[in-house]
Amino acid sequence: MQKRVLITGAAGFLGSHLCDRFIKEGCHVIGMDNLITGDLANIEHLFKLENFEFYNHDVSKFVHVPGQLDYILHFASPASPIDYLKIPIQTLKVGSLGIHNLLGLARAKKSRLIIASTSEVYGDPAVNPQPEEYWGNVNPVGPRGVYDEAKRFQEAMTMAYHTFHGLETRIVRIFNTYGPRMRLNDGRVLPAFIGQALRGEDLTVFGDGSQTRSFCYVDDLVEGIYRLLLSDYAQPVNIGNPDEITIGQFAEEIIKLTGTNQKVVYKPLPQDDPKQRRPDITKAKEILGWEPKVNRAEGLKITYEYFKTLSKEQLDKIEHKDFKNYNR
Ligand code: UDP
Repeated sequence: MQKRVLITGAAGFLGSHLCDRFIKEGCHVIGMDNLITGDLANIEHLFKLENFEFYNHDVSKFVHVPGQLDYILHFASPASPIDYLKIPIQTLKVGSLGIHNLLGLARAKKSRLIIASTSEVYGDPAVNPQPEEYWGNVNPVGPRGVYDEAKRFQEAMTMAYHTFHGLETRIVRIFNTYGPRMRLNDGRVLPAFIGQALRGEDLTVFGDGSQTRSFCYVDDLVEGIYRLLLSDYAQPVNIGNPDEITIGQFAEEIIKLTGTNQKVVYKPLPQDDPKQRRPDITKAKEILGWEPKVNRAEGLKITYEYFKTLSKEQLDKIEHKDFKNYNR
């Protein structure tokens, strides 16, 4: 029997890649998005397919989907620090009211539900790399609190439905991920740097550039999520690439990749910006037989090719340029 899958945040970066994957697996995919940060261009190619349908809906409101649903993937949420500052209440709502609605839907339909959690549940981590057992170091009232706490609540709510109602649930903790269809202007470091290089601007490194991140190519992430969904493991699992790099080094890599002569300029580090981040992926390896396959050089090349296809108009539309609150 063909599986029917609901994907929330379907028009977003990760959601759209997940739609592609489940279509490829022969599923009937129902995409849902309120397009607040998503873009229909990411799933435009799917509309002609018979096994794809789309609802423009905000999952913070009651969710109704007719027919059976085998899997629900909750990937709707703003996901960049600038988004949290611009739309903090929506960020909190989609992680709390949104997941409650979807858990209710999953119960009614007897679906298996997977939620997109995040390395942000570890906050500014005091241990490196971060294993799933680490409880985190989060400032609930800082600028990132609306995202971090929504995601932590989402995990708690999902686990409660699992233990109290016996619902089949999965929790993926996603670390920094990149690839085609990232929003060019959401302020995240990779599109920011590539966009700056393409516009001939200097690359803005926040702080002294010694903070670290570990970047995972989107295809690897999607494979990890797919395996986790099909597994029988209900505890959280980190999915990410443990290849850690400082942001300063990363800027140099982008300059080399784009072949531009841009300089690096230093700006103040945003409040509560995590100093280090690297996933411990022992669990993913043992339970899912998963590890990343695409190294940063390969992944960045593909991503750069994608950004080069964007028009000058798209390149020049910098959403957050005047959003001075962010980098203070
Ligand atoms: N960053 C930077 N320059 C930029 C945008 C971001 O140096 O133009 C830094 C940011 O301060 C953080 C890292 O890059 O230390 C990753 O930021 P991003 O917003 O991509 O994601 P985060 O991992 O912080 O959620």
